Amino acid sequence: MIGSSTPPIRGIIESSLTHWDGRIVAVVFVGGCNLRCGGCPSPHLIGDGCDQGEIPLDSVLDAIYRRRRWIDGVVIKGGEPLLKPEVLELLELLRDFGLEIRIDTNGTCPEALSEVIRRDLVDFVSMEVKAPLTGQYHRVAGTTVDLGAIFDSIGILLSGEVDYEFRTVVYDGQLTSDDVMAIARTIKGARRYVLRAVKDKGPSRTVLRGLARSAGRHVAGCHVDGRPQDRETPFALFADGDERMNA
Ligand code: SF4
Repeated sequence: MIGSSTPPIRGIIESSLTHWDGRIVAVVFVGGCNLRCGGCPSPHLIGDGCDQGEIPLDSVLDAIYRRRRWIDGVVIKGGEPLLKPEVLELLELLRDFGLEIRIDTNGTCPEALSEVIRRDLVDFVSMEVKAPLTGQYHRVAGTTVDLGAIFDSIGILLSGEVDYEFRTVVYDGQLTSDDVMAIARTIKGARRYVLRAVKDKGPSRTVLRGLARSAGRHVAGCHVDGRPQDRETPFALFADGDERMNA
């Protein structure tokens, strides 16, 4: 039995076309998160309770290994995957399969982020910047956030040692266009910034495009994520045997 010290794996999608642009990937959901965002798409993943169950690491690795010739990579997301130091072992095991690895992070763990980059365990990092780095961040994240850690993670990615993107989910009533511009100024010079609205809870695609044009003054490329109504949301198998849609 491998992986006595790997992080709790709560779900897996064996192949997805929507979690990494242009790639077919497996998606691994790591349980536990240090934030409590109101619009969290994965509230069943953020608690640390053992009643959520875990998918044995052997099964996850076996499923990915069997598909390694038909997928391009693996996306590790949560929850917040960098919260558990054991994620390093998981990344090392996946690296041995010769697959590209992307990690999705909320940016609160800059030391772990530095470490996975230093050890060349990831090919791409997608970091969500939830709000301007003011008191507003705590409100959007649903808890007090170490804003210094968010600044540090932004700086690590801007240094360009690994390919990356920043992204922001825009909800009506939570972020204004001025807020999005403030975020764009904070990540000034970034290679890629992605704006996304959640279906029925965010601005129209036209409004989002206008925001992207304005934010584009500060970053090399600002994109609007796929139409929410067109976005395929594959079902993931979770440790409790349930299947749920995941963003
Ligand atoms: S950081 Fe992500 S997983 Fe954690 S609570 Fe916020 S939206 Fe949910």
